[in-house]
Order: sequence, then C-alpha cells, then structure tokens
Amino acid sequence: MHVKSAEFVKSATRPEHYPPAEVPEIAFAGRSNVGKSSLINVLVNRKGLVRTSSTPGRTQLINFFQVNNDLMLVDLPGYGFARVPAEVRKQWGPMVETYLSTRSCLGCVVLILDIRRVPSDEDVLMLQWLRAYAIPAVVVVTKCDKLSKNERARQAATISRTLGLSREEMVFFSALSREGKDLLWGRIEHFLAA
Ligand code: GDP
Repeated sequence: MHVKSAEFVKSATRPEHYPPAEVPEIAFAGRSNVGKSSLINVLVNRKGLVRTSSTPGRTQLINFFQVNNDLMLVDLPGYGFARVPAEVRKQWGPMVETYLSTRSCLGCVVLILDIRRVPSDEDVLMLQWLRAYAIPAVVVVTKCDKLSKNERARQAATISRTLGLSREEMVFFSALSREGKDLLWGRIEHFLAA
C-alpha cells in the first residue's frame, strides 16, 4: 500500500456520528497499551497521527482516519484496563459491538496482541465474537523487538495454542523495527479486494 495521505476525520461514540459509509474500513482492536496507536502510525508512516498515550485507556472514542481518499482506518477504544472507571467500561461493550455488528463498510478487524503476554480472556472473546459475526480478522502480535529469538518462539507457540491459530495466520510486528508492516498491509489489502 502506498500511503499518499492520512488524516484524522472525526471521533464518534454512536452510529449517528460515524462518517458516511462510503469507503471500506479497517478497524483496529486490542487491550489498552498493546501498541495499537504505534502500529497505526507505522502503517501510515505518520509519527503522530494517532496519539500514543502514556495513560492507557484514555481514548474511549471510536476514531476515524482517512487514508488516500479510498480507505478508512478505525481506531477502536482499547479494552481491559483496570484503572478505567466502571461506567466507562460499561459503555465500551455496546459502543464497540454496535460499530462491529452494524458497520456495512467494515472490511476486516486487525486484532492486536502483545508478544510478551498470554492472550487475555477478553482477547479470546473478541476473536470468538468476530468469528461468530463472520467478520474477517487479522491477528497481529506486536512488540516483537522486546523478546529474544528463543523467547519469541516460546511466546508465539503459547499465543497460537491459546487462540487456536497457526503461526502463519498471525502477523509478527514491531513498531520499532517496522517488521511485519508490508505483510500486514498485504493481509489488509486481501480483505479489501474480497
Ligand atoms: P495503545 O494504548 O494500544 O495505543 O498503545 P501505544 O501505541 O500508545 O503503545 C503503548 C506503549 O508501548 C508506548 O510506550 C509505545 O512506545 C510502546 N510500544 C508500542 N509498540 C511497540 C513496539 O512495537 N515495540 C516497542 N519496543 N514498544 C512499543
């Protein structure tokens, strides 16, 4: 994918506020602090397009970013951060589920995991939920630069077993080294063409 332009369009919590469903959308999901903002910024070659936050769980909105006039990247609020107040956590489910289950132009969801962690119950549920709704999912394992080769192989096996996916089905990524960037765009483009 040759990214010529990338810009923030708007934030929304409810369908009335989504931009018109005119171009295919790729949504990004994962637990807070997993590296979602960094990953999107690497994909579009813009350092600060998506605000990376040192306070996880602060961005509780659905953020829409237009790429090249013909694609929208959708940053879904991160889940699973304990310090988020209970009432905010209660809104997360309906907000994200409404988007995922009703958005007609949704092409696929990029589900992001941290190479250093065993997938949480929420990660597993999210993947099951996407499967149940027949929404194509691309699983990305990020922060790969943080582990040695051996540790990485061990974690890859754990993640693959927990999710019931082969290693080839997952994209190994690093926002630091940009490993996995082209492969991830390739997987995304596959679903856009479908
Ligand atoms: P978000 O809350 O999911 O959007 O996560 P961020 O993108 O804000 O990243 C959370 C923290 O992890 C930040 O301190 C990032 O610099 C760091 N981070 C994100 N991706 C990577 C990566 O691939 N490698 C390393 N070493 N750090 C990363």
